[in-house]
Amino acid sequence: MEKRNFLKSIGALGLFSIVNKTSLKAMSAEPAFNMVEPLLPLADQYTLPPLEYSFDALEPHIDAKTMEIHHDRHHSAYVANLNKEMSTNAAAAKLTLETIFASMAKYAPAIRNNGGGHYNHSLFWKLLKANTTMTATAPGGELATAINTAFKDLANFKDLMNKAGTGRFGSGWAWLVLNASGKLAIGSTPNQDNPLMSVSDFKGYPLLGIDVWEHAYYLKYQNKRADYLTAIWNVINWDEVAKRYKEGKMMKKK
Ligand code: MN
Repeated sequence: MEKRNFLKSIGALGLFSIVNKTSLKAMSAEPAFNMVEPLLPLADQYTLPPLEYSFDALEPHIDAKTMEIHHDRHHSAYVANLNKEMSTNAAAAKLTLETIFASMAKYAPAIRNNGGGHYNHSLFWKLLKANTTMTATAPGGELATAINTAFKDLANFKDLMNKAGTGRFGSGWAWLVLNASGKLAIGSTPNQDNPLMSVSDFKGYPLLGIDVWEHAYYLKYQNKRADYLTAIWNVINWDEVAKRYKEGKMMKKK
């Protein structure tokens, strides 16, 4: 039962006074995303997932050379370095990345950087899809309603995401998350951190992540990060974002 409905129903029954301070506190505690389904099955966790489309599929918005270098060299390096790190940490190697992220401070910076890099990129490739129409893709259904409720409309949402991306100094990611209060929120993380990490200032279940490292756009857009962010809305895979929104809502109930 929703907290509000619960309070309304016990209020209507005149039982509010018997609810003691302890249980009120427990009800107001925010549920944590401590049961996140793994993005990568444990058996495949330390291998580079293949791109599900060709390097040139996102042209002209994201060029083929950038995709090739980004996937085959940058992402590949995160996987190789994570493997190197995990080969000396047998206990960590038995855990999902999500479990490791939930206790991130316990692990070496190399696991944070390379585990984050592997997770974030594995997610990022799924969040993009081919679109040669020059018309930006758009969300539908419940996700569209939630975005409009939280951010007024899609244009304003994109503007806020782009600001999160351009406002991130140096390297990092812009995120749309479902936070522990069940609300959509926009923020950013530095380096290869992500909102599942216990050490992150910005937390939630990631629905959409946009890579704003220079390696994601420099060949085509050079220093113009804002132009890359404008273009990326042409190739967002909203079906994947909607799928994650549903997952996030299910997780919150656990
Ligand atoms: Mn990247």
